[in-house]
Amino acid sequence: MTDIETTLGPAAEATRPPLLEVDNLHVEFRTPHGVAKAVNGVSYHVNAGETLAVLGESGSGKSVTAQAIMGILDTPPGFVTRGEVRFNGVNLLTLPEEQRRQIRGRRISMIFQDALSALNPVFSVGWQIGEMFRVHLGMSKADAKKKAIELMERVRIPAARERVNDYPHQFSGGMRQRVMIAMAIALDPDVLIADEPTTALDVTVQAQIMELLAELQRESNMALILITHDLGVVADVADRIAVMYAGRIVEQAPVHELYRAPAHPYTKGLLQSIPRVDFKGRELSAIKGLPPNLMHIPPGCAFHPRCPYAREKCRTEMPPLYEVAAGRGSACHFWKEVLDGSHG
Ligand code: SF4
Repeated sequence: MTDIETTLGPAAEATRPPLLEVDNLHVEFRTPHGVAKAVNGVSYHVNAGETLAVLGESGSGKSVTAQAIMGILDTPPGFVTRGEVRFNGVNLLTLPEEQRRQIRGRRISMIFQDALSALNPVFSVGWQIGEMFRVHLGMSKADAKKKAIELMERVRIPAARERVNDYPHQFSGGMRQRVMIAMAIALDPDVLIADEPTTALDVTVQAQIMELLAELQRESNMALILITHDLGVVADVADRIAVMYAGRIVEQAPVHELYRAPAHPYTKGLLQSIPRVDFKGRELSAIKGLPPNLMHIPPGCAFHPRCPYAREKCRTEMPPLYEVAAGRGSACHFWKEVLDGSHG
């Protein structure tokens, strides 16, 4: 039994909380030029065997939220000012660093967009994967190498036995990302956070990596949080989507419901900007304008300067996350009209 389970005790078994829960999280960056409000009250959860896609443009707060979950936020300048990150019901943000380190990598692990800079160029990939077993589990070098080969095979790196001593630069971008995935799943985590895992890859390799992640998740029943700016890559793998804008969740929904009928103009705009077979004949259109400067987030609804449906109320009143249906929410005052298409 782990420390976390001991803390929870048997009484908690009956009313098991979500595996990982972000609750009203606020993060700000204090810089010489001012305070950037990067995350402004984000709440989401994920359970074992589930995939949550967190979607948003660059600067929406999706990666900063993940860094806060992992405890790898650069402090200073980044500070969590409010909220909780609960793993099996225990708030990680108040745990001593030693306990957090035990959870990071073992129970919750993360893969990043840029495998080349995340891997060390002077060590072989086998050594780097094996490090997880040597450092965390105290395995011998020979046993760790064996485990590294097994993992390389598990993430479908061809000729793993022959390639275990190769260096990162001898692998293609897609294969390097597989090495990163191997390291992230080495200790069988309960939660895997994948931050833009396919952005640097071409479309065919993107699809292969997404398929691999989905397959690994099915095998191990881990929870997967998939962070992306690309709505196109998550449709087939995610169960639910949380759409972020200016540090807030603006829409949250089961994936198929969101694709069928978005309830927020921002999501609607994102959907209209990706090619879809069911939108055949319709013109693709990009959302006009840029996301706001996080030091000067517009009052009211932060999306109002870019929203084609904005009205007076939007400029002064910040919309809460209205309940659209069970498990579905939209932070738009006029979500009903957006949903039934009567508005725009
Ligand atoms: Fe647009 Fe207003 Fe809805 Fe914000 S609240 S998304 S500005 S219609």
